[in-house]
Amino acid sequence: MLRNLPSVEVLLRSSIAQKLLLQTGETHTVALMRKVIDEIRRDIAENSRGVHTKDSLLTVAEERLTAAWQSEQMAGVRRVINATGVVIHTNLGRAPLSENARRALSDEASGYCTLEYDLETGKRGARGLKAENLLAELAGAESVLIVNNCAAAAFFVLTVFASGGEVIISRGELVEIGGDFRVPDVLTQSGATLREVGTTNRTKLADYEKAINDKTRLILRVHPSNYKIVGFTATPTISELADLSDRHNLLIYEDIGSGALVDLSGVGLDDEPVVANSIAAGVDVVTFSGDKLLGGPQSGIIAGKRDLIDRLRKHPLYRALRVDKLIYAALEATLEQHRRGTAATEVPVLNMLSATPAALEKRTLSFIESLSGKPDERFSIEPIPGNSAIGGGAGPMSGPPTTLIALSHKTMTAATLEKSLRNASPPVIARIAGARLLLDLRTVSAAEERELYEILTRLFAAPGSQNLSGWQID
Ligand SMILES: *Cc1c(COP(=O)(O)O)cnc(C)c1O
Repeated sequence: MLRNLPSVEVLLRSSIAQKLLLQTGETHTVALMRKVIDEIRRDIAENSRGVHTKDSLLTVAEERLTAAWQSEQMAGVRRVINATGVVIHTNLGRAPLSENARRALSDEASGYCTLEYDLETGKRGARGLKAENLLAELAGAESVLIVNNCAAAAFFVLTVFASGGEVIISRGELVEIGGDFRVPDVLTQSGATLREVGTTNRTKLADYEKAINDKTRLILRVHPSNYKIVGFTATPTISELADLSDRHNLLIYEDIGSGALVDLSGVGLDDEPVVANSIAAGVDVVTFSGDKLLGGPQSGIIAGKRDLIDRLRKHPLYRALRVDKLIYAALEATLEQHRRGTAATEVPVLNMLSATPAALEKRTLSFIESLSGKPDERFSIEPIPGNSAIGGGAGPMSGPPTTLIALSHKTMTAATLEKSLRNASPPVIARIAGARLLLDLRTVSAAEERELYEILTRLFAAPGSQNLSGWQID
């Protein structure tokens, strides 16, 4: 039977191989074919029952070649529809960019651009100046520097201002933000010595004061972001800490994390520190992410006193942490929307967060209504009350209320439904709760809603299909 296996030459003549040649080139097509033929040879050796003709083995090889290519196509960065209701979903790329930011990326920054060029003088210009100025204005800070992400910002600040000395931090703030960002580890990496004070739930100003000695460089305040201590708690205000550090000639640095530029308590985010408030309270340096509540691209913002920011800018490490033209372009466009006061409608993260429960319920009901008659009686599709999530380490307690689409099937499990949607094109990412699949329209844009409608229609027409993509090799 092994003699009936197709050769590379024979398989190369199949129509799928011909299409692959065009799409991925000869070297990789042949490599994929060898892999597929080897797999079939192994399968036959392990299980010699059954009859395999030349024709049937060629068909098997073609099918497996298609499957291998299809699974390669799933890898890499692909657009998805986020129906999880988690607004800042780190695994799904955090903040979706605004239309203006997308346009700036492709139209202004993807070719030659004024990254370090001044059009007025025709001479070399300052990199990132516009985004830095916009941020300084919005944060009320003297100066701003932009690096790769907030982890880089924290590491940079601690390395430059605290290396070789002691950093005082409350035991309640020795947190892990997720994805390997642990405050004690960042401190160790930066060459600073951690000086813990207080207890997990209560730290007083006097605890900080007692720990100050001639090795102390800096007082660190970290916003615990994804975790909250409630009950019998105490912690000095940021102004008290700023005054203390001032009296002792120390620096005070606050890692604010998600970086709300304005007060978001109106959309249920009561505990998010506002960048400008910390700066106004006298904090020397504040760091936060560009792709959380700011709603821009991945970046880390360092805002603070001019002399300190200048020292960072001149430090050799800055070269290793700086961002590229695509990031500046997307940030500038996003920040202009903040400055104009249109961010709440135009920046997707803020727009999604401000969707009211009533508006979400209405939208969800009419979406379900539009599908009426499509699913047969084996499906159940109904609106249920639930909660979205902020994600990205913001508002751990405050999942804003929403209306979810609960989908289930008499014989198919929620896991099967979830996989069908995940394999669709574009892939739809949903949540599973018990026997039901839950979809939250809060994180689905109007354009994506139409795509979701098409995908669900295909699912109802061919339940169990693992190919809802209309996916074809050409
Ligand atoms: C999210 C977060 C970070 C890490 O930010 P990245 O931009 O993901 O590097 C650091 N500190 C705090 C307080 C955060 O919330």
